[in-house]
Amino acid sequence: MSETAIDVDAFAARARAWLAENLPPADLTRDTFFLYAATHPTDEEVLARAATCRELQRRLFDGGFAGICVPREYGGQGLTPAHQAAFNREIKGYDYPAEIQASTFIPCMAVLLEFGTEEQKLRHIPRMLRGEEIWVQLLSEPGGGSDAAGAVTTATRDGDGWVLNGSKIWTTAGWWGDWALCLARTNWDVEKHRGLTVFSLPMSAPGLQIRQIELVNGSTDFCQEFLTDVVVPDADRIGDVDAGWTVMTRWLYHERTISGGSPYVTGGGNRPNDGPYEPTAMIEAARGLGTIDDSGTRALIGEAQTSALVLRALVESVTRKMATGVLPHHAAAMPRLFGGTANARRAALATELYGDAGVVWAPDDESSAQVGLGFVIRQAACIGGGTTEMARNVIAERLLGMPREQRADADVFRDVPRGP
Ligand SMILES: Cc1cc2nc3c(=O)[nH]c(=O)nc-3n(C[C@H](O)[C@H](O)[C@H](O)COP(=O)(O)OP(=O)(O)OC[C@H]3O[C@@H](n4cnc5c(N)ncnc54)[C@H](O)[C@@H]3O)c2cc1C
Repeated sequence: MSETAIDVDAFAARARAWLAENLPPADLTRDTFFLYAATHPTDEEVLARAATCRELQRRLFDGGFAGICVPREYGGQGLTPAHQAAFNREIKGYDYPAEIQASTFIPCMAVLLEFGTEEQKLRHIPRMLRGEEIWVQLLSEPGGGSDAAGAVTTATRDGDGWVLNGSKIWTTAGWWGDWALCLARTNWDVEKHRGLTVFSLPMSAPGLQIRQIELVNGSTDFCQEFLTDVVVPDADRIGDVDAGWTVMTRWLYHERTISGGSPYVTGGGNRPNDGPYEPTAMIEAARGLGTIDDSGTRALIGEAQTSALVLRALVESVTRKMATGVLPHHAAAMPRLFGGTANARRAALATELYGDAGVVWAPDDESSAQVGLGFVIRQAACIGGGTTEMARNVIAERLLGMPREQRADADVFRDVPRGP
């Protein structure tokens, strides 16, 4: 029997038994995405959790459950998305390395698998799967993140390597990640999409200065990086020189699968549970608040449940159709759009359901705190992973064939006016 022919049910049964023996139960009161955490962890707590993630990832690797869809030669299991989906169903309720899914596996490992050289893949992917390398994305710049092709961080050829100068921003986990994918401009004398190259580099590289950014909810997980004469060997270039946009279109595609559909994600992505937004948690909360019989409350819970079901069905349908060629990869913009708006909406629904408790809460009331802070920061779901406005553009222009947006920057990039 070939490896991929391993029966999904038998695989799921083996996973069930292994999980019960090897992973601790998840702490469902804690939002694992540091950005959303109700009580923001200290730097020491974040580092301790990162160490736990590495250890849990190593356990998955040793148990034969890391990189389920990754080829065996790179340390994976060489199985199918159906096996990964079965494992993701089984792992619900267990603690797993949720905080490293979004950057390390969903976009970065996927990009390395598609564009990395054999040497790069053999060097990094087993280390990612063993929890030894956490990867982050150096993509957005202070001048704007939506227009990725407008990157002005510059890479200049110097002998066998490149010298990078510029700044990146909004890097999730930038200060505790080990390696990064970084988009840089290598040619200013061509049209903007044609002068880009992608590099990989260690976050400890000399000349790379990292500054944590404090958000309104107290989170300090986002970072801004300043690159001053950072030397990157040519061997760490990902894809061809000036062909970075080819890499980027796939990088952005993988990033959009953040709302679901990535074959490389373990569990439910970087948030193993939706905490107080989860419909059953909302039912419990309404019982506690004594509003369960209220028709308005029931409507709120009904809407949350409907949007959760629609998102799941949309992810499944679009993922299947992209895999069979019925839809182009741009279709990932549909679940991205629905996932972003539905998550933001569910944060608002939970706030309505909690009423006063979602605005003022007792110090030990974690659920209410998560609801209140989740409401404040809900729009992040429509921004991270590419904004929902950009997803709308992709759907309009790439799927529906509507006229492309007017471009004022089609000239040689050096000549394009920039600035306010
Ligand atoms: C939770 C989270 C995690 C993130 N993690 C990372 C990370 O790890 N690495 C990283 O590099 N970045 C990360 N980001 C940054 C994110 O990718 C950018 O914030 C995003 O791409 C938008 O860029 P911007 O904030 O510069 O807004 P801008 O690009 O300046 O856009 C401002 C507004 O204008 C809209 N807009 C812009 N252009 C158009 C257009 N052509 N048509 C219609 N509307 C348009 C945008 O949708 C937005 O509403 C993260 C952001 C969040 C919220």
